[in-house]
Amino acid sequence: MQVCVIGTGYVGLVTGVCLAQIGHQVICVDNDIEKVKLMQSGQSPIFEPGLAQMMQANMQAERLKFTADLQVGVNYGEILFIAVGTPALPSGASDTRYVEAVARGIGEHLNGGYKVIVNKSTVPIGSGDWVRRLVLNGVAEGNSEVAGFDVVSNPEFLREGSAIYDTFNPDRIVIGSSSQQAIELMQQLYAPIVTRQYAQYPDLAPVPVLVTDLTSAEMIKYAANAFLATKISFINEVGNICDRVGADVTLVAQGIGLDSRIGHKFLQAGIGWGGSCFPKDVSALVHTATDYGYDARLLKSTIETNRQQRLIAVEKLQQVLKILKGKTIGLLGLTFKPDTDDLRDAPALDLIDRLTHLGAKVKAYDPLINSDRSHPDLAKITVTTSAEDLASGCDALVLVTEWQEFQELDYAHLASLMEQPTIVDGRNFLDAKSLAKAGFDYIGIGCPKIDRVNRTKKNSIQIEDLVLRSATRSIELI
Ligand code: NAD
Repeated sequence: MQVCVIGTGYVGLVTGVCLAQIGHQVICVDNDIEKVKLMQSGQSPIFEPGLAQMMQANMQAERLKFTADLQVGVNYGEILFIAVGTPALPSGASDTRYVEAVARGIGEHLNGGYKVIVNKSTVPIGSGDWVRRLVLNGVAEGNSEVAGFDVVSNPEFLREGSAIYDTFNPDRIVIGSSSQQAIELMQQLYAPIVTRQYAQYPDLAPVPVLVTDLTSAEMIKYAANAFLATKISFINEVGNICDRVGADVTLVAQGIGLDSRIGHKFLQAGIGWGGSCFPKDVSALVHTATDYGYDARLLKSTIETNRQQRLIAVEKLQQVLKILKGKTIGLLGLTFKPDTDDLRDAPALDLIDRLTHLGAKVKAYDPLINSDRSHPDLAKITVTTSAEDLASGCDALVLVTEWQEFQELDYAHLASLMEQPTIVDGRNFLDAKSLAKAGFDYIGIGCPKIDRVNRTKKNSIQIEDLVLRSATRSIELI
């Protein structure tokens, strides 16, 4: 099938590349000319594991092209994906101006054949009909030949860092539309994925395809993200209570996660959720609820719990170091999650803001972010190119992002470079016992503090206790 994807960010580019990989002919459109030039030269403007290679292979196979010309894309595609950003406005509502511009533009260039216009962007509930009207407005303004078209909502559930895997192995595909013709074309488009021809486990049952009305499909996306964010805020709250009563949230999460009604995923306590989706999507749902006269109190609490949680590492640093003014704090990781270069709404940014406000000097090391990256918050700190440079002269480290390579660092060496070998593990990601042996005072989130082995302190767990703890943690999950 001939497909046009408009907007080549984390969602659009992955969608375009994966649709080409399963055999469709794809044109990707972006209005950022520099980005288009980069992609035309075979380079990916974003980091996503495996993406650049798959992109190059499909360009060579002549199934994938890039253009800045919307008209070329609209004329070409029988299915037109809208995959532009929908960031949050200060009010919490979604900024839909990019979707609006694209919808009007599509209308101006419609050229006679039947088209399916697909909202892949996460758009406020009710946007399907709004997009249809905008396209029609565009048609009138541009004097194009009026064509038949339908609008479909096809929300995206991929996770940055595993976006290609998620596209080929989705838990479900949601298609929201009232048009049978559009639904059938969408089913045809996704057939190779539904039948698991590109899946890691091809013998599994076909991917469930849920066909709904437009509004329900839009709501599914928001409800999914709101639920996941709430689950994380829940375990963070439990962790904060654990901190006070002396329980260990990692064990508590294991204990409740074994309940099949609850499950283990999204039950890791830490310094809060962030990124390009959860914050804006939960806020947008609260905003929509308000517009319709409903006070979404649970979701507001989810947001507020997360706002406080993001600064919990600062509280823990204050408990140990007391005055932070003049101290040097090193952040291990900047991105909101590992395996991505995305800094949007990353908890690290709130930490930088708070620590620098308190007079601390902040350094950071992230495998994918270097000092060339232009971001106003990064201008306030020193971005180093290695964990050793980061640790050198630091009073404490904070693990912000659970990059795999952070589990393999030589912590004994890092400890020797630091003023005070203290680490706040903001994701409960590191092995506390090894860290204590390496000479660190280890502070997790919602679990008891563990002193370095060559030091004994009252009220803190000692290495013998850890044997029991790690044995309990390694209980086989059934
Ligand atoms: P992004 O900001 O990374 O990319 C958006 C792209 O659209 C940019 O390349 C931009 O240049 C381009 N663009 C903007 N206006 C344009 C126009 N008029 N014509 C052509 N191109 C234009 O955004 P993203 O992270 O890919 O997110 C896109 C949508 O998908 C959002 O609604 C988001 O909520 C949703 N979503 C994102 C993720 C994720 O993990 N990033 C996951 C699921 C859903």
